[in-house]
Amino acid sequence: MYKLNKKGHAILEVEASLRYESATGPTWWRYFEEFKNERIFGTRCPVCKRVLIPARSFCADCFVPLDEWVQVSNEGQVLGWSLTDYHYFGMPTDPPFISAEILLDGSDSNFYHLVSGFDLSDLELVRRTMKIGTRVRAVWKKEKKGCILDIDYFEPI
Ligand SMILES: [Zn+2]
Repeated sequence: MYKLNKKGHAILEVEASLRYESATGPTWWRYFEEFKNERIFGTRCPVCKRVLIPARSFCADCFVPLDEWVQVSNEGQVLGWSLTDYHYFGMPTDPPFISAEILLDGSDSNFYHLVSGFDLSDLELVRRTMKIGTRVRAVWKKEKKGCILDIDYFEPI
């Protein structure tokens, strides 16, 4: 089905889906395998000493391989967040949802995930609950597949 845009040009509005497989490699394979045990690991750079989450096979700043695995906390603090209240293609869950940048305790890089566990339809509650620096903890799904969504969401502590 086509429609006319503001300039009178015909446009098609379609939703596309592309199924693909991507090799994770040994680093991300181990990283996600640890999720099955509700553990989050990063890798430490021997030069800059940063613990990077998700675990990586090399430090992009120092250009050195990383092979020291470090377990970090399932808790951390929110560095930034946004509330999504509309549906778009490829979204990780039904709206409304909060996606947040989280600094997990023991890590030095930002981790992106969902924050939930309270009424997200109440915007005043969301504003009172979600602050920069809000402490959050991972809530794990019972059934795990070894993927990022094994963490259902992070909840405010
Ligand atoms: Zn480094």
